[in-house]
Amino acid sequence: MKEIYDITIIGAGPVGLYAAIYAGMRKAKTKVIESLSEVGGQLTTLYPEKYIYDVPGFPKVQARELIDHLVEQGKSFDTTFCLNEKVENLSKEGEIFCLKTNKETHYTKTVILAVGKGAFTPRKIGLENEEVFHQKNVHYHIKDMSQFHEKNVVIAGGGDSALDWALMLKDIAKSISVVHRREKFRAHEATVERVENSEIKLLTPFTISSLVTNEQFDGVEIMHTKTKEKEKIECDHLLIHYGFTSDISPIDEWDFTFERQKIKVAEDLSTDIKGIFAIGDIASYKGKIEQITIGFGEAPRAVCSALSIARPDEKLRPVQSSSLFE
Ligand SMILES: Cc1cc2nc3c(=O)[nH]c(=O)nc-3n(C[C@H](O)[C@H](O)[C@H](O)COP(=O)(O)OP(=O)(O)OC[C@H]3O[C@@H](n4cnc5c(N)ncnc54)[C@H](O)[C@@H]3O)c2cc1C
Repeated sequence: MKEIYDITIIGAGPVGLYAAIYAGMRKAKTKVIESLSEVGGQLTTLYPEKYIYDVPGFPKVQARELIDHLVEQGKSFDTTFCLNEKVENLSKEGEIFCLKTNKETHYTKTVILAVGKGAFTPRKIGLENEEVFHQKNVHYHIKDMSQFHEKNVVIAGGGDSALDWALMLKDIAKSISVVHRREKFRAHEATVERVENSEIKLLTPFTISSLVTNEQFDGVEIMHTKTKEKEKIECDHLLIHYGFTSDISPIDEWDFTFERQKIKVAEDLSTDIKGIFAIGDIASYKGKIEQITIGFGEAPRAVCSALSIARPDEKLRPVQSSSLFE
């Protein structure tokens, strides 16, 4: 049977997460759909280790930590999270929106778009069999560090994310080798220094030229970018940290008014399609600033506007959160 939600939020960046929290406070039946396997949007994909200095109440807060706080804050509410699902199509059955993803179709009375710069997907190398060994031996995210216990791990990439993972895994894995196509790493100087002073093996300037497989995964072949010489490295896991691509399609084909690739919204955050609202980086109006706190401010307004459509007969007035849990 179709389960119909009051509000479905597309995108679990900071703004989508806060919209879900506020919708929970307003007792809306809420779902969040996110294309990645983890929440946090730009904060977890682009700058997890950086400090943010303009979130009120926090003199400074690490991006990853801010997302952890939002996740913790959301635990009091019964929100449904659908990760690893990219919304690919929008249609309507009567008054109900149907959101088709790569996995299934979701049904909802209203939609809040918190899609930021678009759906993030990890950049792949494009090697033969990369897809076949994905998740078992080839990884783009790490969910459970224990799978690398006493294993030989090769990490591909030269940015903060690659080197941070190398440092985090060095005491768990049997060996860590980092393969980077340039002589110099792009990560913070302090991180590079810590890596250089550790037992982590640095292989530069090399690229991963192929996976060494014989039904099972045996390791990788690397190629020197200048001499083109190749060598094989036996390993159990390959972690690829080549960054992310973002893709705003198919939302840019939906019937909204766009202003410089952003969706134009009215004062109540409504779009040209009745029942669909936009907040955070994707929303455009006069004087808009792309900042986390601005998106946080937009979220309650969009939730209230959405609820007036999802539950038109209920007298729903915003409440103060300080009197919610007493
Ligand atoms: C390096 C850097 C530093 C920054 N520093 C600051 C700072 O100090 N202070 C500040 O206020 N702001 C800062 N920002 C800006 C801030 O990160 C953004 O304003 C904020 O992330 C916007 O949040 P959002 O939730 O709207 O979008 P995002 O964080 O972009 O999240 C959108 C989410 O939607 C998902 N998504 C998109 N399309 C789909 C789809 N079709 N289906 C499913 N999921 C989808 C994406 O995968 C993503 O996870 C910084 C940005 C960068 C890049």
